Amino acid sequence: MSQSPAAFSDLASLAQGLAARNFSAPELTEWVLKNLQADSCNAVLAINPEASLQQASAAQKRLDAEARAGQCSGPGFSLLGLPIAHKDIFVTRDWPTTAASQILKGYISPFDATVVERLAAAGMVGVAKLNCDEFAMGSGNTHSAFGPVRNPWDSVAVPGGSSGGSAAAVAAGLVPAATGTDTGGSIRQPAAMCGLSGIKPTYGRASRWGMIAYASSLDQAGPMARTALDCAVLLSAMCGFDDKDSTSLDLPAEDFAAQIDQPIAGASAATPLAGLRIGLPKEFFAEGLSDEVRRAIDAAIAELRRLGGQTMEVSLPRTGLSIPAYYVIAPAEASSNLSRFDGVRYGHRAADAKDLQDLYCRSRAEGFGKEVQRRILIGTFVLSHGYYDAYYIQAQRVRRLVADDFDAAFQSCDVIAGPVAPTVAWNIDTASTDPLAEYLADIYTLGVNLAGLPAMSIPIGFGQQAHARRPIGLQLIGPRFQESLLLKTAHHFQMATDWHTRHPDATKGQP
Ligand code: GLN
Repeated sequence: MSQSPAAFSDLASLAQGLAARNFSAPELTEWVLKNLQADSCNAVLAINPEASLQQASAAQKRLDAEARAGQCSGPGFSLLGLPIAHKDIFVTRDWPTTAASQILKGYISPFDATVVERLAAAGMVGVAKLNCDEFAMGSGNTHSAFGPVRNPWDSVAVPGGSSGGSAAAVAAGLVPAATGTDTGGSIRQPAAMCGLSGIKPTYGRASRWGMIAYASSLDQAGPMARTALDCAVLLSAMCGFDDKDSTSLDLPAEDFAAQIDQPIAGASAATPLAGLRIGLPKEFFAEGLSDEVRRAIDAAIAELRRLGGQTMEVSLPRTGLSIPAYYVIAPAEASSNLSRFDGVRYGHRAADAKDLQDLYCRSRAEGFGKEVQRRILIGTFVLSHGYYDAYYIQAQRVRRLVADDFDAAFQSCDVIAGPVAPTVAWNIDTASTDPLAEYLADIYTLGVNLAGLPAMSIPIGFGQQAHARRPIGLQLIGPRFQESLLLKTAHHFQMATDWHTRHPDATKGQP
């Protein structure tokens, strides 16, 4: 290797390194595999060096053949030869897929998820499967059958969840980018708690084929990386119509990076966000928001104003109701989706079952963790005869109202800004004692999924005193299909600030 990749590099600079031939795709892959093997956060569930190196040599052949590879119009770049790790919710042929559950331990899928396939087709090299909450149910990655993930910034803290392994692996500098899934905040919240950029697209943009289903009407895939630009390039590669997913949107492919550095229409380079109307929902700044998060959000909003953004108060009056609505709808869908894990078709099968009923019961009791069992029970209850109208139908009505609130707010603003979570990351040892407390911490993220909107998180600072090493994220929410506007806003913020360049390695710069 003539020049080693710099630790904590973003994808854009690694793409430059490949194009300049400072290192080859196989060399980059070996470097990443070495990082992944030194994982001290319990973020990595599986690697397969042989498969990764094979993909890397194929990518290098393409790089050699395509003299112009790495050159794109605009600030975008080619993904050819760059590493990517996947949340262990995406099925993969080259690595086992577990959904962080004992029930799938050792399962190898006969096919790749569409998102995995698309990133591979763009020339990315798959390098690992990453830990998460079991079946993506959780907010702190403490519900994994393979142990909790540690936050690389502060090892006693959770990394957020459910895509906690993805966030920790990128934040720790093991890999430059990872996939995540977001059903109620699982890309945005761990991105916030680990100081990363992450985006959940409009429902239907990314194919759910091969993404192990949690709550199908809410689940979306998205990228987690160091910068908004990296997220834009990844998102373009991940999204697009897929006839294998009946809720996939048939929209023309969009190049999210193409215009990311251009000012908002009519604005100047000095104030690139001039004319952008930024709504601040008053319910997001009410009781429950910690002082340290509020302070960081206020400073980020001041920066958006300096960049020309115009802020205004908006209202999302049903914010509080999004919690009960989500925690009825998501478990209801989960109880139905998870009924396929019965010990017969695949996954864990209990030994010495007396009869079929006993086989189902024991396989599921042994295979599913506590939180997953709780959700299945809640979901089965709210769907049961006599309770369906009172809970499930009522929750669907509230879902409509939550979506209406967003539509009304977007009558007067272009994007919504606010916190991702009420607090910084909590301690691993205090997690999981009170499921309700964990559910309540999802208050600012759930509404977006109920309404099917795109939203992202970007790093904007750190907590205070004992929390000085716990990152905080700003949430940007857009109307349907306005990913480009979110990414552009985030990119201009990152051009003017350096929060996204901070990393937890004490020898390479303190927060
Ligand atoms: N914390 C939420 C839940 O537990 C969201 C999880 C997710 O987005 N996958 O359901």
